[in-house]
Amino acid sequence: MFQSCSVPPPFRNGRGQSKQERETCSCVCERVVRVSSYRKTKMSTTAEYDCIVIGAGVQGSFTAYQLAQHNQRTLLLEQFVLPHTRGSSHGQTRIIRKAYDQDFYTHMMEECYELWAQLEREAGVKLYRQTGLLVMGPENSVSYQQYKSTLQKNKVPMVTLTPDNFSQHIPQIHLNEGDGAVVDVTAGVLFADRALKTVQGQFQKLGGIIRDKEKVTDIEPGPIVTVSTTAGVYRAKSVVITAGPWANRLLAHTGLQLPLEVVKINVCYWKEKVPGSHGVEQRFPCFLVTECEEARAHIYGLPSNEYPGLLKICYHIGGRTDPDQTNKQRDRSDIDILQRYIARCLPGLDPEPAVVESCMYTMTPDSDFVLDCHPTYSNIVIGAGFSGHGFKFGPIIGKLLCELSMGKEMGLSADMSSETKK
Ligand SMILES: Cc1cc2nc3c(=O)[nH]c(=O)nc-3n(C[C@H](O)[C@H](O)[C@H](O)COP(=O)(O)OP(=O)(O)OC[C@H]3O[C@@H](n4cnc5c(N)ncnc54)[C@H](O)[C@@H]3O)c2cc1C
Repeated sequence: MFQSCSVPPPFRNGRGQSKQERETCSCVCERVVRVSSYRKTKMSTTAEYDCIVIGAGVQGSFTAYQLAQHNQRTLLLEQFVLPHTRGSSHGQTRIIRKAYDQDFYTHMMEECYELWAQLEREAGVKLYRQTGLLVMGPENSVSYQQYKSTLQKNKVPMVTLTPDNFSQHIPQIHLNEGDGAVVDVTAGVLFADRALKTVQGQFQKLGGIIRDKEKVTDIEPGPIVTVSTTAGVYRAKSVVITAGPWANRLLAHTGLQLPLEVVKINVCYWKEKVPGSHGVEQRFPCFLVTECEEARAHIYGLPSNEYPGLLKICYHIGGRTDPDQTNKQRDRSDIDILQRYIARCLPGLDPEPAVVESCMYTMTPDSDFVLDCHPTYSNIVIGAGFSGHGFKFGPIIGKLLCELSMGKEMGLSADMSSETKK
């Protein structure tokens, strides 16, 4: 007969108990725990990888693909069944642009456009549609002027619209008095879900291995890093952590915490009063408002695409959230701001969101990315804090993280790397 035990029966396999409960419980559980640790040892693969990438969002997927291109034996681990909608990389579209308020992002995008085009050619799929990006903001504001001068300095093809000719080109938007307007002609829409599927597919074609529904539960640093998941134990010469909103949870295993804040973004879709009036066929561009009377941060939008008759327009600020419990974050102040802006400046849209989905940003204090080796363990590489603007950079981030994990210098010019290596 087994000794009686306070642990409820369904949990007597050791899985539902705390470590302390397992250690103090002297009944059958003890034996079960020993059996399960034996099983765990048995599950360990003997296979050793050159690199394990943790997190199959856009950054992890491009990093894994780059590693495979460099003949590195690579394992890409993902906690959820792919594809999923619980991180930051899901959804059908993202804006791609060279318009930025800092030069080094525009420089990074020069190479990045090339890398996107290479992937399109290699896989034979279309991932990008040019629409242009209209940037609007108070003519005399610092932020608007930075965008404009970055485009000019870097000779990005652009068009300046004046209050007189604005409505001939973009009759759907009401330009605020005193606002300037420039169009980054190179900008457009990336087909995000398709891009993710494509890069993961190319990685697998190169011999890379993806294991989804395998949450990483531990990382043991060392010359060979040991990574434990809910299903096994793997070893590799280097590890890249690209876990998006969960980055700090994984870094905790390595004794490091970064100043990251995870926020929930309400992804709002707004109905056209006349279907098709704000579509790509009507030459309606992506747009970005640097600031306006309703908002202190960016408002951005894309032509109708995902859902017929609906435009995605979002506010670039959200409420702090736990990535595993996003439903608890119910702040809708961003939606109020959008409603007021849309009622005033986009009269062809119903100022009530038709659909609201959710997505997360992982913010750094200055909105720049963290791309670096772990300060103590140089074979653990970190790509984090993409601050709500990282998708378009996926191919180049993948390249840089691959270089770091192979012990190379990042292939960026000195001024860019000092900016990105925070
Ligand atoms: C609404 C919205 C609009 C945006 N618009 C744009 C835009 O127009 N242009 C642009 O360039 N960018 C945009 N972005 C930003 C861009 O989408 C993100 O910067 C980018 O997707 C971040 O990717 P990531 O790989 O870092 O994170 P994620 O996509 O979140 O990937 C991290 C992955 O790690 C996995 N993971 C975490 N922990 C573990 C674990 N323990 N074990 C295994 N796997 C784990 C997660 O499940 C997840 O799949 C937008 C973001 C949002 C939310």
